[in-house]
Amino acid sequence: MSKRGNKFVLYCITCITVCVVLIASMLAALVMKNKEAENNSSGMSIVDTSSVASSTESEATQSEEASSAASGLITASKDSVTNDYTGQKVCYLTFDDGPCNNTEKILKILKDNDVKATFFVVGTMSTGRIKDIYDAGHAIGLHTNTHEINRDAEGYIYKSVDSFINDVNGISDAVYKRIGIRSCLTRFAGGSITAYQRLGKENFEEVKRQLKAQGYTYFDWNIDSGDTHKKSPTKEYVMNEIRKGLKSNGEYKKEVCILMHDIKNVTVEALPDIIKELKEAGYTFKSLNSNGENFAFK
Ligand SMILES: [Zn+2]
Repeated sequence: MSKRGNKFVLYCITCITVCVVLIASMLAALVMKNKEAENNSSGMSIVDTSSVASSTESEATQSEEASSAASGLITASKDSVTNDYTGQKVCYLTFDDGPCNNTEKILKILKDNDVKATFFVVGTMSTGRIKDIYDAGHAIGLHTNTHEINRDAEGYIYKSVDSFINDVNGISDAVYKRIGIRSCLTRFAGGSITAYQRLGKENFEEVKRQLKAQGYTYFDWNIDSGDTHKKSPTKEYVMNEIRKGLKSNGEYKKEVCILMHDIKNVTVEALPDIIKELKEAGYTFKSLNSNGENFAFK
């Protein structure tokens, strides 16, 4: 081959080598990118950035106890929830102690009325229904894993700080298993007053500190529907309890958080009328979120 021919062959080999290197590096970059996307989507796919920000603002860095939950806590509602207060009165319907058979009926009533709510779920109930609640656009809150508030029971959740935190982590895991996200919304079994009374002041403060450090916000309520007050309260009783709670000094409250229980048949029975009356009174309905009022008992 001539010198010129040799040069041409060398030129061709160099070109091919450069092309191969370029294609290989492009492929490698593509694979890396896919892997990253896969990692990001594993479990923490839908992140409400506003609530994550609030968990980073918390004392997470101060706590050695901050579990894996701290990084991935979200409001646990598919629909984004904002606190853009427009002067409209807001109602947060909350359903505790489920899910159960009634939950399906409640979801239908909420859908028919285009209303969003919050469900504080229990680990020993029908956790398979958590996904139905979430898919319908409502917020999932962590109530308790076992709801064991019998002082003599082995798994008494208010026995110590650790027993309580373990219980919260248990229900957090159960929710994560069902919907692949971790909720930052919690509600004490019996409300914060019960937790305070059972744990004692010091332990209660420590529990609150640890919840905050892990990015949780706990919620009480400012209206008790009374659906658990008596053995079988009537629909009229529940409606009246809510009517009484709606006003303060003769004026409608701007924000109301109503305690109800999906395990109670009377709640299913009364819910359409409750929603109707609240709408007539000018309330709009939202799911709870960690950036707003937590209705904590004073
Ligand atoms: Zn409860």
